[in-house]
Amino acid sequence: MATKNIVCPVCGASCDDIQVELEGQGLTVRNACKMGNAKFQEVVSPHRIREPLVRADGDLRRASWDEAIEMTARILANSERPLLFMGSETSTEAMEVGIHMAEFLGGIADSNSTVCHGPTTMGIQEAGRVGATAGQSKSRADLTVYWGSNPLESMPRHMSRYAVYPRGYWTQRGRFDRTVICVDPRRSITAENADLHIQLNPNTDYELLSALLTLLHGKRPHQTAEDVTGVSISEMEKMLDMMKSC
Ligand code: SF4
Repeated sequence: MATKNIVCPVCGASCDDIQVELEGQGLTVRNACKMGNAKFQEVVSPHRIREPLVRADGDLRRASWDEAIEMTARILANSERPLLFMGSETSTEAMEVGIHMAEFLGGIADSNSTVCHGPTTMGIQEAGRVGATAGQSKSRADLTVYWGSNPLESMPRHMSRYAVYPRGYWTQRGRFDRTVICVDPRRSITAENADLHIQLNPNTDYELLSALLTLLHGKRPHQTAEDVTGVSISEMEKMLDMMKSC
């Protein structure tokens, strides 16, 4: 029997329509992209660690769950300032337990948000956020700008499920009702599939945004904006026209 509506834990798209069917040693996954499928296949992978391993005399040996839990508790209780670095592919409920545990132990709770999406949250706190649900982009968006992102490789179903290919209420013809702009120094696979690729020089996003803003205010950016960003003023105008007319 297939289990339906499972949330995929891999990327930020958090696809919630995954179907998984376990038959003997095999697993059939429906709706997930390659990345999602690979993650679910780990459940039946021969590489999966199915029981605790305890290091003794330099080597890892199998241990019972009771022994492993006892040992973990002892290590935590004897530590002075433990760091609980929790995985981003762990469930929210497990994270909550980890945070409570770190609090109880007087330790430090951290996660890979420190090196990943943490700055996003800091930016939102400092400057606010304009956003929409994925349903809004599916139903309404007729222009999608991928700026510094390559969803076809890092969030594979973003284009197919949420933003470019799906048929929405006001975007009945799917891709034919949408325009895609990709801003990226690399000729990524997403850029290849975009209607307009703005290939700016690396690390000049701020300068390009400033120039676009200047144009939006009806003024012409200084010539150095072209030299610095590697994007011609006419290309910037083209991009702005597409954005203003969507
Ligand atoms: S796009 Fe792929 S990896 Fe990301 S949540 Fe959806 S199925 Fe999982």
